Amino acid sequence: MTDIKQQAQNMNTQMVEWRRHLHAHPELGYETPQTMAFIAERLKELGATDIRTGVGKGGVTAIIQGSGPTPVLGIRADIDALPVKEETGLSFASTVEGRMHACGHDAHTAMLLGAAKLLIQNKDKLKGSVKLIFQPAEEVTSGAMTMIADGVLENPKVDGVVGLHTGSLWGGFKSGEIGYCETPMMAACDFFYIHIKGKGGHGATPHLTVDPISIGCQIYSGLQTIVSRETSPLAPAVLTVGSFQGGATPNIIPPDCTLKGTLRALTPELRRELQDRITHIAQETARLMRGSATVTFDYGPPPLIPDKAMVRKLVRAAGDVVGPERVRAIPEPTMGAEDMACFLEKVPGVFFFHPSTFGDDRDYPHHHPKFSINEDVLWTGAGSLAQFALTWQD
Ligand SMILES: [Zn+2]
Ligand SMILES: [Zn+2]
Repeated sequence: MTDIKQQAQNMNTQMVEWRRHLHAHPELGYETPQTMAFIAERLKELGATDIRTGVGKGGVTAIIQGSGPTPVLGIRADIDALPVKEETGLSFASTVEGRMHACGHDAHTAMLLGAAKLLIQNKDKLKGSVKLIFQPAEEVTSGAMTMIADGVLENPKVDGVVGLHTGSLWGGFKSGEIGYCETPMMAACDFFYIHIKGKGGHGATPHLTVDPISIGCQIYSGLQTIVSRETSPLAPAVLTVGSFQGGATPNIIPPDCTLKGTLRALTPELRRELQDRITHIAQETARLMRGSATVTFDYGPPPLIPDKAMVRKLVRAAGDVVGPERVRAIPEPTMGAEDMACFLEKVPGVFFFHPSTFGDDRDYPHHHPKFSINEDVLWTGAGSLAQFALTWQD
């Protein structure tokens, strides 16, 4: 449908303006008052209805009514920035010290506003309706859950969902292409905390103590055998201990210490298995060595699993916009996490990759102080989202 392609291309300059404004005014987590106000003002100008701010504390929703109230497609963009000091030197760089849109969520927001404009321009062709979902707090992986708890998938009930991520998350792609994946695409992510209790004392009389650091080392070694010896080599899993803290003095055995880490898995079953084994190994090892261990978890998003039928519809819709030869399968998942997975766990849908690199020395990884995106292709993201909304019922 070259019509949407043309309209999307014509809007690129406007999306660049929106994106640059958002880029200059980054906000973190749920503290997104200016971002919410900016989105709500644009949506009002565009003619979206039922605009609500403060959904899930820092999010915005709105409705675009097509031929009837149902079915409802949710289109989601995350809107939050990162606690990073920007070093791009761009004319529209962050105006807030220590905060930066270093993951491209400014572009996601601009592209969803662009898709909204395209859909309002083509309302007569829209079957059912669209719920626009601007989500806060993705970088702390809790915003989607907070929005869902706040009822974002109800009133009206959302029947399908779509979203994208821009940037360089997957290599081997060029700007102007679209990447899709029919299998689990990003990992479940949880944090674990192991608090080990022993009995402190003098470093010269270890036999009179229960050394928690010694217990912690055994637990650390035990944890390393979960992925190497207990899970299938064909099922990706990661277990990383990123913090091991205890004691402060060379000759004092402390009374306790703490290990903190993260686990990643591509299936809910493996995720549960890792949680169980971490808990058992920590508790039983500590007991064996005369101490005790308490294990707690911060549960993050589940694995991101797209719906196969929706993926096929996305491939067709994106092909209409960028050309079928530029819509390519992502060769392998990433063990990074993304809380779009929480929406996809509740509602069938699809998440796709919107490559936006330059192919030169301006490319830096996500979350880097010099991270930047190629604005010339904002139209491919907005166009693909809009075309998907117009055709997912066909
Ligand atoms: Zn990020
Ligand atoms: Zn991101």
